[in-house]
Amino acid sequence: MEAHSPAEWDDFRRTLRGRVTPVTWQTWLEGLRPVAIQNGVVSLIAPSEFHLRWVNDKYRPIVEAAVTTVFGPEARLVIDARREPLDDTAEDESFDEAEPPSPPAPPSRPSPVPGLVAKYTFENFVVGPSNRFAHAAAMAVAEQPEGHYNPLFVYAGAGLGKTHLLQAIAHHAVTLAPRLTVHYTTSESFFNDFIDGIRRKRMNEFKARYRTVDVLLLDDVQFLEGKEQLLEEFFHTFNALHDNGKQLVFSCDRPPRSLIALEDRLRSRFEWGLTTDIQPPDVETRLAILHRNAGFAPTAVPEAVLRFIAERVVDNIRELEGALTRVTAYAALTHQEIDLDMAADVLQDLLPPAHRLPITAGRILAATAAAFDVTVTELEGPSRRQPLARARQVAMYLCRQLTDLSLPRLGALFGGRDHTTVLHGVNTVHRLIQTDKALFDSVTALLQTLRNT
Ligand code: ADP
Ligand code: MG
Repeated sequence: MEAHSPAEWDDFRRTLRGRVTPVTWQTWLEGLRPVAIQNGVVSLIAPSEFHLRWVNDKYRPIVEAAVTTVFGPEARLVIDARREPLDDTAEDESFDEAEPPSPPAPPSRPSPVPGLVAKYTFENFVVGPSNRFAHAAAMAVAEQPEGHYNPLFVYAGAGLGKTHLLQAIAHHAVTLAPRLTVHYTTSESFFNDFIDGIRRKRMNEFKARYRTVDVLLLDDVQFLEGKEQLLEEFFHTFNALHDNGKQLVFSCDRPPRSLIALEDRLRSRFEWGLTTDIQPPDVETRLAILHRNAGFAPTAVPEAVLRFIAERVVDNIRELEGALTRVTAYAALTHQEIDLDMAADVLQDLLPPAHRLPITAGRILAATAAAFDVTVTELEGPSRRQPLARARQVAMYLCRQLTDLSLPRLGALFGGRDHTTVLHGVNTVHRLIQTDKALFDSVTALLQTLRNT
């Protein structure tokens, strides 16, 4: 392995350091270490999974820019995490592959399925009303692949657990049936493999890789949209596997019918099996997830701080975890104990301004009525004409997002409607905002108005 030149490495660190705040540098970027710099690939290692996720989420573009500045415009960045054995997982089943005696490798538990994050297991997946069905379906598929739910299609917005769930299936399936060939990959890697296969005239290898597995889990299939040649190949891969009773699992940021740039034959195949979504978690689920993550954190996190975070980050679990990480990282960095004041300080961007009013159903109704040019009385009333009915559904959706009112409570609030009507309204808006940009914009504007005033 060609070693990197120390001068370039120093240069890179200086460049990166100059582009971020000192706190960001110390907390997140200083700890990145070079593994190798060769063939135009700059390969770095982050001190932990936590760091890796954070860097990828928040600072990847900055790091990439520094890479191209120093190593040239063609240079590519790869960041991995150092595997850290967590005490909590010490009693997990250990895999029986022997570690090579030398060179001394970082401690790791190799998974029989490459490319999986060790912590994305069912054990670490907190189940709540928002994801119960998706979880059950995933579990069923893991326990009995090649069964009834084929393909399983899971869709959800960003940061709601799609990747976690797909990888949990992979972990669990091979644990139960070690002989199964399970392949997890992102649609992007699938694409890259495909391109590589074409370029190097190795399409047979590509086909062999994807058509001989027992379980294929393909993450983020929205990425396939519009890539015609790849879709053709994917179509055949799908058929080859499905015809042989092999299990397919897909994740996507929207339901199959909203993948408009797909041919019908593929879109309909996505719907052959079971389609399920994951909704944003309710406050109890958010709290439970924070509890679990706090268990992995190096510093004790008081309950009040967890609650503070759970109440402020509502629709993205990655952000939720990110907020907690930010607090624990800050505490570790400054050698302080965590308390509510510190958390509020570190998470100022999540903190409501002093004059912020509580978000009540009444405020949501008033704001929605104003935005849609109807009256609150009409929102509560019986009429189902459009666009009034849609405005009502938006108000229901916002109440669900921003308050902890139960569905029956909301039903009562909206003129004595049934809770299933509310659920339908909430789901409709959830679905529509993924395809209807105008509605998405209205909802986003309302969310911001309500959160920021
Ligand atoms: P997506 O693929 O939908 O964007 P991820 O699967 O990457 O979302 O999830 C984002 C983060 O949230 C991950 O760290 C994941 O472990 C965590 N997460 C998501 N859902 C849950 C859950 N139900 N319980 C615990 N952690 C979760
Ligand atoms: Mg994902």
